[in-house]
Amino acid sequence: MQALQFSDTAITTPLLQSIVALGYTEMTPIQAKTIPLILEGKDIIAKAKTGSGKTVAFGIGLLSNLDASVYETQALVLCPTRELADQVSKAIRSLAAFIPNIKLLTLCGGVPIRHQLASLEQHAPHIVVGTPGRIKDHLIRKSLDLETVRVLVLDEADRMLDMGFEDEISFVVAEMVEEKQTLLFSATYPESILAMSEHIQHEPIEISIDEAHEEGQIEQLFFKAEEQDKPQAVVALLSKYQPDSTVIFCNTKYNCQIVGDWLTQQGYSVLVLNGDLEQRERDQVLLRFANKSCSILVATDVAARGLDIKDLSAVITYDLSHDPEVHIHRIGRTGRAGQKGLAFSLCAGNELERAKAIAAYQNADLKWDKFNATRIPKNTTLKPAMVTLVIDGGRKSKIRATDILGALTGEAGLSGSEVGKIDIFDVRTYVAIKRASANIALTRLQQGTIKGRKLRVKSL
Ligand code: ADP
Ligand code: MG
Repeated sequence: MQALQFSDTAITTPLLQSIVALGYTEMTPIQAKTIPLILEGKDIIAKAKTGSGKTVAFGIGLLSNLDASVYETQALVLCPTRELADQVSKAIRSLAAFIPNIKLLTLCGGVPIRHQLASLEQHAPHIVVGTPGRIKDHLIRKSLDLETVRVLVLDEADRMLDMGFEDEISFVVAEMVEEKQTLLFSATYPESILAMSEHIQHEPIEISIDEAHEEGQIEQLFFKAEEQDKPQAVVALLSKYQPDSTVIFCNTKYNCQIVGDWLTQQGYSVLVLNGDLEQRERDQVLLRFANKSCSILVATDVAARGLDIKDLSAVITYDLSHDPEVHIHRIGRTGRAGQKGLAFSLCAGNELERAKAIAAYQNADLKWDKFNATRIPKNTTLKPAMVTLVIDGGRKSKIRATDILGALTGEAGLSGSEVGKIDIFDVRTYVAIKRASANIALTRLQQGTIKGRKLRVKSL
């Protein structure tokens, strides 16, 4: 298939001129997928890794809609840091090189607001690029008017949320009219992004470009197993390959529960991600899996939506999906970041048609293998590397990761390398500790204090 050229789309002449001047010949995959939709005025939520050319995609979008003869702020780009805002400003300026009289202003914290105020007093910039905190300051001072904004871009939205800009973003969005286009770009797709999108976008189209899977990065094997043999097959595969972290996909909640109960009974550390869980329980399951204190997660596709776990060693498909694209999406969660991933699929006699559809979709024959359920070695149930401790105190009691780390490495005498991920919520904090040191950490935290206070601590 011929790659989409910039000139194949509705991009205007001055923008095509700057694209030529920049030396771009073909669109990157994320550009080819998003630019046509952006030019149609659609809201999009786009996920693609760093360096995939997202800036050009939204830059073209906001410049296409701009009327340089009207001195109003027509586009706003929110970025997580000053450094990124500067990069984005520079890229948009180059794209706008052949459009006369465009005024772009970069508004970030960390520099005196005086100069920015002076610059805003002359006449409103067509485009503002900035960080949420400083933009909010300007809105409070009424030095900036965003009611005329027609295109809003949230760049690196996941990082903005990680940095705690959620409230600032809400404040800024509330100052704009609803009838505008909102483009959300992110390198990852955590739940929080979907929640924010729901809040501020209108029928967004989701586009994601998964990191290209280099040849051989995922080892995909299919196993014939009838329904009643599938539980044994899972155990046989887990004990043979010993993956550190595995997601098992089932088509139904019912099967998830069956698999979860069975593996628990076999001594595995396993959690079921169920659509019926309350948000707090769901967060807890996800973070225990992500911080490596649970090694197996069983989920339906719906429950796993937005799941973004790095370093997944294996994906087991317990029920084959009816949709080959869903299958590819399932197995694509392993074999990331240059690591080798394992994808095992169980196929009952009545699922053979689905297997054929997958082979046709990926345009490659399936590799079939056999599992040995009769010779499962003893004591192969994998113990997760970490244990999660829960502390009854969080953001509301001003607890920070450094306080926890301080308490553990100071009084408790652990080394930093024994402490894993620290997740802080409003009234609760979860800390992953290497299994061997978990008991010491627990006792010491229970006896000692955090930020001078005694807090309840227990092990999950
Ligand atoms: P992202 O925001 O997705 O991390 P950028 O927008 O910063 O990525 O782009 C990364 C690099 O790719 C930049 O140096 C940019 O100039 C370059 N680039 C963007 N689009 C193209 C293209 N179509 N062809 C060649 N290079 C491109
Ligand atoms: Mg970028």
